[in-house]
Amino acid sequence: MDFYPPGETVTVLAITSNSCNMDCSYCFRDHSAVETLSFEVFEAYMKNMDSYFPRETPLCVIFHGGEPLLAGYSFFNKAFKFLDSLDRPIYKGMQSNLTMLDDKLIELFKKNECSIGGSLDGDEEINDQTRRFKSQKGSYAAVTEKLHKLKLAGMYTGVISVLHDFNMDAQRYYKFAKQVEAYQVGFSPMFEYRNSISSCTDPGKLAQFLIDLFDLWVADDNPPKLSFFEEIMHSMLGKNPGKTCTFHEDCTRGMMAVNVNGDVCLCNHFLGMKEHCYGNAAITPFSEIWNSVQRESLSRRSSQMATLCKDCEYNSICHGGCMSHTFKSFASRDYFCKAYRLLFAHIEEALVAVTGMAHD
Ligand code: SF4
Ligand code: SF4
Repeated sequence: MDFYPPGETVTVLAITSNSCNMDCSYCFRDHSAVETLSFEVFEAYMKNMDSYFPRETPLCVIFHGGEPLLAGYSFFNKAFKFLDSLDRPIYKGMQSNLTMLDDKLIELFKKNECSIGGSLDGDEEINDQTRRFKSQKGSYAAVTEKLHKLKLAGMYTGVISVLHDFNMDAQRYYKFAKQVEAYQVGFSPMFEYRNSISSCTDPGKLAQFLIDLFDLWVADDNPPKLSFFEEIMHSMLGKNPGKTCTFHEDCTRGMMAVNVNGDVCLCNHFLGMKEHCYGNAAITPFSEIWNSVQRESLSRRSSQMATLCKDCEYNSICHGGCMSHTFKSFASRDYFCKAYRLLFAHIEEALVAVTGMAHD
């Protein structure tokens, strides 16, 4: 049995639907087949997992998609009841486009203390260029209406944006982050690489955007919660590195995704990739999933990156970044390496100015 440190959280991305009610311009998923995760497969997988990890290991279950709410009220009602029956710390969350959220679902998610993250790429004009319904109508009005309801319900909400050519204006994005009714705002650069066609945020442009955004954030007396910066700063100060899997030493140790058909893989970037499938939640014992050669093979990247990035002063913060942001070989640096290095140096400079300390 692979040793898993008690107290370290294991995150399960439960892909409850592979379809979506929207049609965002940059979405890489094939939404033509509508499949949802059955409660029975979810339950079987979680039971297996529950019997494998020590009682004190917290499980964080994030419902994800496609659009996860397509799984319907009944799935979530049963899933919450089942998760409540487990004798261990459980955190619940959902990443959704929010547009299908109604009052009944809000009540259910609130009662079960499930945090909710939505998606917006910026203000109305910016967001509606990319995040649209199938009718091509923009989603901003619908999403902000739901965020307002969630705020009135006193729920913990976040908003995440995909960074791309249309929204990397730091002043404008910062204004949006301050105004949006969410507890925290997160962002990740667009990385799309399929069949030798690449459509990725430019690392140089990303660096400038992140640095400008950071400067606006630190200069603000009443800043919004931008966890991306907070986590890097915490990491530099030697505190708990936080939740961003991108900068984990070995993301395979704390993350797994269960697809609608029960196939288990590392995360949503590996869905449908048979060569990286750990097993099937309905039939494979969890010990075989956890100790599969597929997981072990992905896990080797952490030592490969320790060697490849050994001369980088930010290796202990970044660990080579995200393996899904690589071309051809996972054992290569994150495509956004240049942006991260420049940002780390900028944040370190700001920290040294305040604390007089550089990171180890
Ligand atoms: S591959 Fe990237 S996105 Fe997936 S879990 Fe690892 S760090 Fe996170
Ligand atoms: S910033 Fe680049 S060189 Fe440094 S650890 Fe990250 S990927 Fe490696």
